[in-house]
Amino acid sequence: MAYSYDNSNIFAKILRGEIPCGKVLETEHSLAFNDIAPKAPVHVLVIPKGSYVNFDHFAAEASDAELADFSRAVGEICRSTGVAEHSGGNGYRLISNSGSDGVQVVPHMHVHVIGGCLLGSFVQPAGESQ
Ligand code: 5GP
Repeated sequence: MAYSYDNSNIFAKILRGEIPCGKVLETEHSLAFNDIAPKAPVHVLVIPKGSYVNFDHFAAEASDAELADFSRAVGEICRSTGVAEHSGGNGYRLISNSGSDGVQVVPHMHVHVIGGCLLGSFVQPAGESQ
């Protein structure tokens, strides 16, 4: 089944400059900006500029240049926000939600970089409310 990308999603609008974002980093193939509803002191979203719906779409169809650029952008955010132990922080969590079970709200591939406090357990046990 082919991947289907909806150009009307909010991150596509950010990439087209139709709505603003709190930009943290821009590279040739990637954009990082602060989450509008942060769940921790550091909560940055990193997105590829290409039209990919989720991580598996990106991993399957992005070019090597896009994949490398994105990976390095995520690492740069971890360091530049100070959450990486390498830059004096206490660590961080990367999350990429996909589909309904993953509770993906915006259907444009993104990775959440979350940190700046103790984050607690990894996921809610199945069946418990969030
Ligand atoms: P997910 O799709 O992984 O569930 O999460 C989407 C994330 O995008 C949420 O954490 C939400 O707060 C964030 N978000 C939704 N709309 C906007 C927006 O217009 N600007 C920014 N900066 N973040 C947004």
